[in-house]
Amino acid sequence: MTDFDLIIIGGGIIGGSTLYHLSQLGYKGRVLVLEREDALSKGSTALSAGGFRNIWTTPINMRLTSYSIRKLAKFREELDWPIGFDQRGYLFCQTEDKFENAKTFGAEWEKNGVRIEFLEPREVEKKVPGLKAGIDHIDPEVSELLGMKAIGGGVFGPDCGAFDPSAAAVGYFERAIEGMSGRAELRLRTEVKRLHIEDGEYRGIELSDGTMLKSEKVFVAAGAWTNALLEVSGVRGDDLPPVVPLKRMLFITNLPPIEGFDRIPMTIIDDGIYFRPEGPNLLIGRADPFTEAGFDLTADAQYYEEKINFVMQERVPGMERCRLMSMWAGLYDTNEVDHNAVLGEHPHYKNLLFATGFSGHGAMEAPAAGLAMAELAMTGAYQTIDCSELSIRRFWEKRPIHETIVI
Ligand SMILES: Cc1cc2nc3c(=O)[nH]c(=O)nc-3n(C[C@H](O)[C@H](O)[C@H](O)COP(=O)(O)OP(=O)(O)OC[C@H]3O[C@@H](n4cnc5c(N)ncnc54)[C@H](O)[C@@H]3O)c2cc1C
Repeated sequence: MTDFDLIIIGGGIIGGSTLYHLSQLGYKGRVLVLEREDALSKGSTALSAGGFRNIWTTPINMRLTSYSIRKLAKFREELDWPIGFDQRGYLFCQTEDKFENAKTFGAEWEKNGVRIEFLEPREVEKKVPGLKAGIDHIDPEVSELLGMKAIGGGVFGPDCGAFDPSAAAVGYFERAIEGMSGRAELRLRTEVKRLHIEDGEYRGIELSDGTMLKSEKVFVAAGAWTNALLEVSGVRGDDLPPVVPLKRMLFITNLPPIEGFDRIPMTIIDDGIYFRPEGPNLLIGRADPFTEAGFDLTADAQYYEEKINFVMQERVPGMERCRLMSMWAGLYDTNEVDHNAVLGEHPHYKNLLFATGFSGHGAMEAPAAGLAMAELAMTGAYQTIDCSELSIRRFWEKRPIHETIVI
């Protein structure tokens, strides 16, 4: 006898989207959602940059994000819930050689229905008023020191943009709980201590207060904390997805005083610095390649000054007038092998479902990933988008799916 049919661990956007899609699919089981924080969406979902794009190198990511973008565009209408959907585009500014490579990849994007515009340097400057594509205006010693090169062109995705993942996560949970008429329960401030696994099968969970709960299935949607929970439950070695928590920081400055800067797309420049307007301010990030795996969440103003601000000031004169107003750090659930999600039912542990390893693209893939996980939990198979290639099996079978456009 089980207490629930399904337990979902994690109150972020992946858990929320899965519960919502279960309710949409007419799931009749009893579901319990457990979140250790005092509110929904207090993990990585709340700390995300909220970007969405279908510009990827792997077809699975193009499929997941193209589907998700269509759903995010209709989110407000479908759920009657605002998520700040803003299709302002993504602009990857590239050096001459990378731009030429991107053009040769253009046929793949076209084949996968990804709309791309290849922009000449002056068109890049038009999209981002104030940005200087060249480096002639920079003291040669400075450009060398900062490793800056001229922008040879831009890859622009008109279907890309930004939204508020936290609002979407809460919207998903609210509407799902309403839609499931008493069959879905949410418990906050409830930490799962471990999963009970026996003879290759999931049996139940133990909470930190010692309570034991039984359910037929469990879905671990614990983001960057997924492996920690699996490990303490006895999952070891190659049975663990190759995922580590990696600190990623975001910074808020005021907007530079440049006419039209408030309408620029999400723009990616030198060394992966990315920025977009966030209300009346500018949100800026850059993944530090030297970050070590761990749960540290300290934001570092010095990193902004040294690794971002100097370059920004040269690339967008006017930025020197902007001040760092706030900053925070969150965790990527980084898949160290191929930078893609690892999801599905665990092949060695019956009824244990999980989804992690999104490596910085989990918010934008949540609509599709949640639908896939709901279909899997309900019917035992993917129905709409086949996600079997994202199974942990790919690492055992040495068939990784390397995604290279990761920021
Ligand atoms: C700085 C930053 C920028 C990002 N930018 C983007 C972006 O532009 N676009 C994009 O698509 N993605 C981005 N991401 C990634 C995105 O935020 C994540 O992929 C996504 O939010 C993951 O959602 P989740 O539901 O899996 O995890 P989370 O939102 O982290 O939710 C997991 C939840 O599980 C709970 N939990 C964990 N362990 C337990 C336990 N034992 N018991 C009970 N509860 C538990 C946690 O408290 C948490 O609330 C960014 C992330 C960061 C940090």
